[in-house]
Amino acid sequence: MRIVLHIDMNSYFATVEQLANPFLRGKPIAIGGSVGTRGVVVAASMEAKQMGVKVGMNHPEAIQVCPHLQFIDGDPTKYQFITQTFIDIAKRYSEYIDVYSVDEVFLELTDLVPDIQGAIHIAKLLKQDLANEIGSYLTCSVGIARNRMMAKVASNMKKPDGLSIIDETNIKEVLDWIELTDIPGIGPRLKVRLFDMGIRTLSQLGNHPVTNLQRVFGPNYGTMLSEMGKGIDHTTISHISEVALTKSMGHTYTLKQDTYNRDEIYNTILKLGEKVGRRLRRDHYQGRMIWVWLRWADFSGTNGRVTLKQYTDNGYFIYKVAVSIMEGWDFPQPIRAVGVGARLLIHQGKQLPIFEQDKKQHRLQQAQDAINDRYGEFTIKPARIMHTGLTRKIGGFKEPHQFK
Ligand SMILES: [Mg+2]
Repeated sequence: MRIVLHIDMNSYFATVEQLANPFLRGKPIAIGGSVGTRGVVVAASMEAKQMGVKVGMNHPEAIQVCPHLQFIDGDPTKYQFITQTFIDIAKRYSEYIDVYSVDEVFLELTDLVPDIQGAIHIAKLLKQDLANEIGSYLTCSVGIARNRMMAKVASNMKKPDGLSIIDETNIKEVLDWIELTDIPGIGPRLKVRLFDMGIRTLSQLGNHPVTNLQRVFGPNYGTMLSEMGKGIDHTTISHISEVALTKSMGHTYTLKQDTYNRDEIYNTILKLGEKVGRRLRRDHYQGRMIWVWLRWADFSGTNGRVTLKQYTDNGYFIYKVAVSIMEGWDFPQPIRAVGVGARLLIHQGKQLPIFEQDKKQHRLQQAQDAINDRYGEFTIKPARIMHTGLTRKIGGFKEPHQFK
């Protein structure tokens, strides 16, 4: 049985600001959302959250719920420094690590500790290191469970400064009471669809006939949902040597006009996905985490990501995964820009395809790359994106943080 630990920093950007400036401690502060800008709050301190300030609010909304809110400009250099320290500390405890975001890390502790008690011990040591080397003002919530998904659910159960465990003794209860949307991969839109099918809890999702889920959501996604409902997640965590931990390859594109049109968005994502695949293959990388990002008309945004069981450099596959993530999303506003990319990259680790179908796909891709190398990008391309006019103006996109 596996043991996975998830660490999530609490109110990260805002707390880092309070850590750096003692005069801000104990006060409601917000990062972003300054007056006169179209920007929105990107992070709020614990004190601000208690007053009802939420990420995504604009200036008037935030001031309305919290009149004394102080707005601070974000300082990426500061956050990068702390994140790098955080990753370095986490790496001491396991060589199997996924850096999920600037303030979240998964560690595989299987074979390193004999049991859950051993993992609790590691969690305490880790928290102590973070307090000593970063500062005790910044706290984190830790979740320990039998897989990644449930470890993340566990760390979310108690904030701030929590330590929660989900194992055989309490998993049934947890699946009964946590919100469907507490599971990464189930968004509000999907929740509504599941409600319509009479599924209101994860247990009900797990007990629902898998054949029915497969019929409604497709064979892969249906199976995945059924496993989610049972608290099953087979996603592995890579060895540190295999992965460029925080390197990301992706592309973003600002649409000519804001739109609600899902087809248009998906076509754009297909094209961006093809470009990402092409860049991965050219630089001899494969990625295992696919991320997708949307910016709404008011410049706020949303994002999601999925860690795959295997590495990929296939643009069409990247597109399929990105769309499966977005299927669960509502579009409360028209969309202004989209982005898609891959992380958890492995260099030169290319596995040659084993199955006939994959081999065919591989040869097709090689031929396509050869033609495009010679005659220019998108000389040959999927028919679906023939009439999308976005060959130009696609810039390389890197996450703001680039860590070792
Ligand atoms: Mg956090």
